[in-house]
Amino acid sequence: MQHIAIFGGTFDPIHYGHLLIAETALEQIPIEKVIWVPSRNPPHKKAAAFEHRLSMLQLATRDHPAFTVSSVEMNHAGTSYAIDTLINLSAGYPNTYWYWIVGLDTFQTLPRWYRGHELAQMCNWLVAPRLLGGETIAQSELICKQVKQQLENQSDAIHWHLLHIPLMGVSSSLVRKLYRAGKSIRYLVPEDVKHYIADHDLYSDKSE
Ligand code: ATP
Repeated sequence: MQHIAIFGGTFDPIHYGHLLIAETALEQIPIEKVIWVPSRNPPHKKAAAFEHRLSMLQLATRDHPAFTVSSVEMNHAGTSYAIDTLINLSAGYPNTYWYWIVGLDTFQTLPRWYRGHELAQMCNWLVAPRLLGGETIAQSELICKQVKQQLENQSDAIHWHLLHIPLMGVSSSLVRKLYRAGKSIRYLVPEDVKHYIADHDLYSDKSE
């Protein structure tokens, strides 16, 4: 049986926080591969075109032998749901034990996802602590336990694991905001991604 982690997100754009999380998961968990899955139509976000987000992911991950980018959501009509992504990917990767990588903020919303209770049991959750409300590792663990409790009130056991990772305040919104203000985004995103953003003028006021 192979062990694979899905890393889903908007990736608008991919940044070094995302890359560090995926690398940490490979280091700390016995998984062989991380599949990056950009969402086509994020339910509550306006984002750059799917093709641009996909291209930036490909540029940022191409040197890593254990990273794969999936366009499974490209032809998905309507809103994209995580459970459909897992079911679709499972068809191409039989005999796989699945993990799902999320930031703490995203994990907190899992009980409200479409068929979230079902999805919660279909994979093992790898949670990256995130500096949003100034959470410490102890507080992050507490939050994960609360999420587990909420889910288990209605379903079976949920498996989660907190990744040990240096907390990074980087976010895609910060990258977009800095770029729009004409500030440097160097060292927040890979160089190729920085050039891609500039070449396609993705996040200036004009492109809004
Ligand atoms: P935005 O700022 O536009 O909301 P984002 O930086 O959160 O974007 P997403 O593509 O929405 O990026 O995130 C994909 C996943 O990565 C989510 O589960 C999110 O919680 C997680 N994530 C992103 N950045 C970090 C970070 N710095 N630390 C921990 N988790 C993160």
